[in-house]
Amino acid sequence: MLITFCGVRGSTPAPGADYVRYGGNTSCVAVAHAPGAAPVLALDAGTGLATLTGLLGGAAFAGTILLSHLHWDHSLGLPFFRAGDRDDARVTLLLPEQEAGQGGAGGDGGAGGPGGRAGVREAERLLGRVMSPPFFPIRPGELRGSWEFGTISPGQHKAEGFTVEAREIPHKGGRTLGYRVSDGRAVLAYVTDHCPTSLGPGPDGLGAYHEAAVELARDADLLIHDAQLTAEEVPAEAAWGHAAAEYAVRLATLAGARRVALFHHKPSRTDEQLDAIARRFAGGPLPVLVAAEGLSVEL
Ligand SMILES: [Zn+2]
Ligand SMILES: [Zn+2]
Repeated sequence: MLITFCGVRGSTPAPGADYVRYGGNTSCVAVAHAPGAAPVLALDAGTGLATLTGLLGGAAFAGTILLSHLHWDHSLGLPFFRAGDRDDARVTLLLPEQEAGQGGAGGDGGAGGPGGRAGVREAERLLGRVMSPPFFPIRPGELRGSWEFGTISPGQHKAEGFTVEAREIPHKGGRTLGYRVSDGRAVLAYVTDHCPTSLGPGPDGLGAYHEAAVELARDADLLIHDAQLTAEEVPAEAAWGHAAAEYAVRLATLAGARRVALFHHKPSRTDEQLDAIARRFAGGPLPVLVAAEGLSVEL
């Protein structure tokens, strides 16, 4: 499995000279079955999704986009995905099924799954709230190529030759899923936008090491995790819905993951500050990557 970070920033893009080495695009991770193969899975569709086009060598995207949740930094790259917005593209886009009463499928009974008609309607309707006039010139259904929209709920799924396990992760402002992606040999855990303090302070004040997070990360070859904050920032800022880098590293250690990638960097965090965060963990027992746009990792 080859994963490539297409966008590593949280909340809002970070352009400018202080951010060029780690990159300023918002969340998107591309997954391919092997080095040299075209990515067939995209985790989230922040502005980094546009850079996935460059990984495809001029070809159209044929694959699945899994959204962890619908916040702007995970969805607003969608209409700027040129490899997906062309006549020969084939894209399945799945977003978390909303809980009853949260603007879900209402009287349909909320049946989810990419094939469920209620899920298809729900997914297009939700995306269409931000992607439609007067906010944007076109609706999701007007993207070129063959697009299928649907919802995904916690549980085991298959996508593009991968097994995908989805678990609900506490965040803020909308249902959020973490994913565990396996090809039978390697395991990638993707847990971004995670507010573990919402389940209590945990043993170190950084939040609870709860079952869903631990099980997604269990023995993973790589855990990609929210590191919007540092431990010192948690008391003042955790209520905005994010985790500290130190939490990510400890979660990976507790779960037996082999490596952790700190991800979803605060938009104001400069390259120098991210280098300093990398130094905090250098030489520790667990390899810690600070995710940078364009970086690929083979699992
Ligand atoms: Zn985010
Ligand atoms: Zn979010």
